[in-house]
Amino acid sequence: HAKAEGRNTYRFFTKELHAALIERKTLLDELTIAVHEQQFELHFQPVIQVERGNLYGFEALVRWRHPTQGLILPDRFIPIAEQSGLIVPLGHWVISQACAELAAWQKREQTQARLALNLSLAQFRDLDLTNHLAFCLTQHGLRPEQLELELTETVLMHDHDAATDIMHGLRALGIGLAVDDFGTGYSSLAYLKRFPVQKLKIDKSFVFGLSSSEDSAAICRSIIALGHTLGLLIVAEGVETALDLAFLKAFRCELAQGFHFSEAKPLNAFTKTMWPAA
Ligand code: C2E
Ligand code: MG
Ligand code: MG
Ligand code: MG
Repeated sequence: HAKAEGRNTYRFFTKELHAALIERKTLLDELTIAVHEQQFELHFQPVIQVERGNLYGFEALVRWRHPTQGLILPDRFIPIAEQSGLIVPLGHWVISQACAELAAWQKREQTQARLALNLSLAQFRDLDLTNHLAFCLTQHGLRPEQLELELTETVLMHDHDAATDIMHGLRALGIGLAVDDFGTGYSSLAYLKRFPVQKLKIDKSFVFGLSSSEDSAAICRSIIALGHTLGLLIVAEGVETALDLAFLKAFRCELAQGFHFSEAKPLNAFTKTMWPAA
């Protein structure tokens, strides 16, 4: 009996694995077409200045408008895009599209806002990145200081010297750099000091329930305090309640984004009157 069960278990896992592999292969094939046909759209999440409650800028977040499955969130396709190399052409599109949309929004709203973009390792190493960024900024009349690139700790840790060189090149253009999902990787704040970054984004796992967990509150407070001693601006992501926001304000966190303000939406959904003037 035990033997039969073992066999069934084995069969169960291979079946599951087989299905997972098929799904992955299908998604990869479809993603290749999607990149070719540009089946993507951008949603934007507002970033708010904690102290005054005014708009600081937007983070662009990519979605896949799948022909049969509807809107697919990045966690389902970015890893496949990264492993296949498709992230480079996809990221190229994201940069151009985000700059174009922000420029149109600014023209309509008669105000300026910053733009934050997420970059994967392969994009960061792409020799064409700096040129493409400079080209898009010029083409849409955006100042480099308005643009900020979000890199994860993994990107930074991967190839320290090369990463530092690329970052200095981007900084020389005036583009801002931020560390995304801070606290989920292995880097320490002391390590970060070696990179020319200006911002730290506290990962949302520490921000969720900040007001009801002493541990989360202590972690957020120390990241903010230590970040400040290194001269960094701090962004909290995943701010879902007014109480969490009040804690961040007490900790002197400069910037916040999260469902408390808004989820990511098409940029057209936002007007400058949604926030008080700075
Ligand atoms: P991220 O850069 O850390 O972006 C924040 C994620 O948290 C977004 O998920 C956002 O919708 C979500 N979020 C923000 N506030 C809240 C909140 O209050 N509650 C909850 N539950 N979630 C919140 P999203 O859009 O699904 O993106 C997931 C990740 O995909 C991003 O994490 C980023 O790493 C990656 N990604 C998105 N767009 C791009 C892109 O254009 N290029 C690259 N390379 N990666 C991207
Ligand atoms: Mg991000
Ligand atoms: Mg993040
Ligand atoms: Mg993330």
